[in-house]
Amino acid sequence: MTATAQTETEIHGNYINGEWAPAASGETFENRSPADTSDLVGRFAASAKEDVERAVAAAAEAAEGWRQTSPIARANILHKAAEILAGRQAEIGRELTREEGKTLKEGIGETGRAVQILRYFAGEAQQPSGEHYPSMNPLTLLYTLREPLGVVALITPWNFPIAIPAWKMAPALAFGNTVVFKPASLTPLCAVRLTQALADAGLPPGVLNLVTGGASAVGDPLVRDPRVAGISFTGSNAVGAELRKLAAETGAKLQLELGGKNPAIVLADADLDHALTHVVAGAMMSTGQKCTATSRAIVDRRVAAQFTRDLTDRIGALKVGDPLATETQIGPAVSAEAADRIVADVAAAKGDGALLVGGDRLRANGHGRGHFVAPTLFGDVDPESTLGQEELFGPVLGVIPVDGLDEALAVANRVRFGLSASLFTRDLGTALAFVRGIQAGIVHVNSETAGAEPHVPFGGMKGSSSYSREQGKAAREFFTQTKTVYVDPPPG
Ligand code: NAP
Repeated sequence: MTATAQTETEIHGNYINGEWAPAASGETFENRSPADTSDLVGRFAASAKEDVERAVAAAAEAAEGWRQTSPIARANILHKAAEILAGRQAEIGRELTREEGKTLKEGIGETGRAVQILRYFAGEAQQPSGEHYPSMNPLTLLYTLREPLGVVALITPWNFPIAIPAWKMAPALAFGNTVVFKPASLTPLCAVRLTQALADAGLPPGVLNLVTGGASAVGDPLVRDPRVAGISFTGSNAVGAELRKLAAETGAKLQLELGGKNPAIVLADADLDHALTHVVAGAMMSTGQKCTATSRAIVDRRVAAQFTRDLTDRIGALKVGDPLATETQIGPAVSAEAADRIVADVAAAKGDGALLVGGDRLRANGHGRGHFVAPTLFGDVDPESTLGQEELFGPVLGVIPVDGLDEALAVANRVRFGLSASLFTRDLGTALAFVRGIQAGIVHVNSETAGAEPHVPFGGMKGSSSYSREQGKAAREFFTQTKTVYVDPPPG
């Protein structure tokens, strides 16, 4: 292994204490494209507890120096990393598509999003970080400071393999924390590329450490390490529930961003063609594998039959195939397991609604080289059924007919999730009633559930999060703690 991330044999190391190095065991795992399993994306360090311990030790060692580094100096490094990443955007976007399977446009777009996030938090590092208060004693200087937590563990999913790590890492570093980053096993190359940009920008050794490998071999020892003061996790509700219990024992500050069952409500007065475009995009882009994907179209009964017929036509006509090809609209599921699970869930849901299109694994016309699933639509879905309640995390949409906004809101809210939601209407009063009544952290009127800009808070209500928010100014809340300072003049 050389001092770069990649050798001639395409083996990518961990990044610990400023050096790229193999796992202590020398073990590796391979990563293949979900669109074509003959495409070997790379081999990566299959790390274990001792690698995690080295990474946490390096982060702990670097913590005081980084905490004391001027926020302006930290900002300069983030700016430089943004420029480096921007220069590599096309190449990394292509790698993202090979590794994760979303279309090339989405892969390049997501890489651009990571650039934007780094730039935003370079700016945030230079914003005021405390408050000045009046005191009972008029001579007392009374103010607050926001200080870093120390070592933070960042654990990320595969579905936004560069944007989500960036939106955790950029604020963690900007506000003075040191980081141990464990990416999803399905998308380690994007993690290597993001880490490489920050390393090339001049981050001091130990400030950012990347450890690749599995959930039990790397994730588990990392979250249990008593030197870890904060854990920011994005992923499934099942793992989130385990982390809640664990953090209650260790005392680590915990941030969870979890699943969704996001509704798009279409009322009879909506521009139906506009709603159709946004509902299809929200449900199907990135193969429906977005936490904010639309999975329920809650449609006014007066227009439901026509809207469902139009949805069937549009969804049936989507071009599924090689995500690197410009004409492709929908790529593969991320893995064979994901594709099999989606198809099994669809088969199990046949009593929950009427299957109108899709539902199968695609194998003809070259699809057999990867993990392709046909975009799927159910009509007349029972809102209380599994299909109406649970996240399928694939290209699967269910239509639920309702009578007007009040019933739509009641149905939309009767799930354990509350991540994003949208409403299609031309009526301003109705739109405002929806904004007041919907239980979701991200709310859209006349646009798809999956839109999110990087400079505003992001996160869900109810079971979709731990009540914290990521991105925008909200990120400072999680990645810092408050120190309240009273300074009195000396007597006399
Ligand atoms: P996941 O299985 O929960 O995995 C997420 C990350 O946690 C991966 O890096 C995984 O490692 C690691 N991990 C798993 N078990 C762990 C444990 N016991 N201790 C420590 N780390 C552990 O989720 P996923 O399948 O990657 O992602 C899909 C889910 O993420 C969906 O539910 C989706 O809605 C949600 N999501 C939410 C948001 C949001 O912002 N709300 C955004 C995107 C995705 P391995 O990869 O090695 O298994």
